[in-house]
Amino acid sequence: MNTSMDMYFCPLYSGSSGNSLYCQYGETRLLIDAGKSGKTIEDALASIGADIRSVSGVLITHEHSDHISGAGVLARKYHLPLYATRETWWAMSDKIGKIPPDTVREIEAGKDFWLGDIGVVPFSIPHDAADPVGFRLYGGSMSISTATDLGCFSEDVYANVAGSTLVLLESNHDPDMLRANPKYSTALKARILGDHGHLSNEACSAALLRLIHAGTADVILGHLSGENNTPTLARRVSTEMLVREGIRPDEDVRLQVALRDEVGSVYILKERI
Ligand SMILES: [Zn+2]
Ligand SMILES: [Zn+2]
Repeated sequence: MNTSMDMYFCPLYSGSSGNSLYCQYGETRLLIDAGKSGKTIEDALASIGADIRSVSGVLITHEHSDHISGAGVLARKYHLPLYATRETWWAMSDKIGKIPPDTVREIEAGKDFWLGDIGVVPFSIPHDAADPVGFRLYGGSMSISTATDLGCFSEDVYANVAGSTLVLLESNHDPDMLRANPKYSTALKARILGDHGHLSNEACSAALLRLIHAGTADVILGHLSGENNTPTLARRVSTEMLVREGIRPDEDVRLQVALRDEVGSVYILKERI
């Protein structure tokens, strides 16, 4: 990929088995989460022509292992700074092991900052973690928002995400598949279905409708459950909702599904002058 004022985004991995998203604008490259091994993330980046040594830092959403399992390695091996809220640092320090002190960067929900050429806005999301956040990333007039691991699409989340050029939103599960899943305890089902759990396909599609009306042209369904969802089903629920409302997928809006174990497509957002 050439350095230009286009904005690049790639969901390297998204799902309950590990999350890592890539974004590039200007001279700056960053990751959101490092929930696969360091080697897997390095290889995924290489497969899209990006070198892990050129990455400026890793934004951490929360301390669950599917978001941080490779974070310690990236800080130790490549000296990548990790950006997380204070409560997330408290919750994840033991899990990621000892890291160089200067790779510890503290952020705060609602407080925007620059990471090189990219403007970063962390915002709170309703999830059962210490202080979980989603991120809106700004490059020129474009912006990309990622919101996964949220029990409900609150008005607060909407306000932070609305108007983004591209949104990656959680489409975690089909509630009927989840309820019928004999491998999940009643308590776990209640946790996932609760307001601080994960977003269902239906809740995702309703949120997408609002976001598309607010100007979003590119949507990616992410953080799919491997047990209680399929890419086909997630796509169908959102597509049907959009079509019912008169929005034509692939014409009015581009809708894709980020896969759990396959490096996703590279999105190129063009600055509109
Ligand atoms: Zn997760
Ligand atoms: Zn989580």
